[in-house]
Amino acid sequence: MSQFWSPAVRALTPYVPGEQPREKLIKLNTNENPYPPAPGVAEVLREYAIDRLRLYPDPGAHALREAIARHHDVAVEQVFVGNGSDEVLALAFKAFFERDEALAVPTISYSFYPVYCDFYGITMNRLPLTEALEVDLDAFPTDSGGVVFANPNAPTGHAHSREAIAGLLERYTERVVLVDEAYVDFGGESVVPLLARFPNLLVTGTFSKSRSLAGLRIGYAIGSPELIDGLNRVKDSFNSYPLDSIAIAAGVAAMQDDEHFRACCNAVIATRERTRAALEQADIQVLPSCTNFLFVRPRSIDAEALFTGLRERGILVRFFDKPSLNQFLRISIGTDDEMDQLIDAIYAMTGVNA
Ligand SMILES: *Cc1c(COP(=O)(O)O)cnc(C)c1O
Repeated sequence: MSQFWSPAVRALTPYVPGEQPREKLIKLNTNENPYPPAPGVAEVLREYAIDRLRLYPDPGAHALREAIARHHDVAVEQVFVGNGSDEVLALAFKAFFERDEALAVPTISYSFYPVYCDFYGITMNRLPLTEALEVDLDAFPTDSGGVVFANPNAPTGHAHSREAIAGLLERYTERVVLVDEAYVDFGGESVVPLLARFPNLLVTGTFSKSRSLAGLRIGYAIGSPELIDGLNRVKDSFNSYPLDSIAIAAGVAAMQDDEHFRACCNAVIATRERTRAALEQADIQVLPSCTNFLFVRPRSIDAEALFTGLRERGILVRFFDKPSLNQFLRISIGTDDEMDQLIDAIYAMTGVNA
């Protein structure tokens, strides 16, 4: 605590991101993609005209928004971009949820949502997951000041169908429903096609996971033009140039390479399902996953002990030190070779003979 901090800053509880270790570890803790970005990204970086860096970037990031609009078959006026979807989410919470009624949020979902609520003074109505650890779409009260959840959800990995979410949107029409699709490309069903029917739907996406560009910080939102205008009002009151010129150019190249994108997603999905079968052999419960991670509950060993043991063996996974999650580990899907090393280490610790 410092006397120089404003009272509001003293009261904050900031988000704690997953560790980015300095030593060489097999990194399966922050859901990064194990494969390189599209070859076109390397070409953009190699050939970038350095002299252009003298100039401010396009504040509307048109080229990138057009590439995203084309991929999702929406109009460019329906696309907003920011420095990672974390920034887009931060602007969306300000634009749509800072109001008197409480925001409806699942108790277990992306842990940045409560941090933004804390930051903006938004009251939360936290709704428990179902027994099967799924987001309970029927539980969101219709008088909420908004609804936010990740689909597929994190860190559980479960995804609702587009039609199930349409059911929520049919009864919840007065405020914004924000569906965070950070993981949708690994087996979820995007709700973007529902935008034609529901002007209160906002969908966020990211280049960090399925496009292998976590380091470049590119995220986006897709919604009705009136929601995008709301986001622009906040952006232009805060930072009119969120994306730098290099991120815009590289992002376009990443979005245009559909073949590389699909091949990487399919490889991650195949490795995920093979890893699932192998972990189940070691008496580990593995939840169904539509993402690039597995949420697992070891039965014969304590989750924290498994986390610590793996770390000693040079493998970093994610352990959440909270009563509702501390029986579980979240394991990102790496390359086949990395997952083989994980499986070998877990078999060694649990006494399974491979
Ligand atoms: C990773 C993640 C994000 C943030 O992604 P960035 O675009 O890298 O900021 C947002 N939501 C969820 C659920 C995530 O897991």
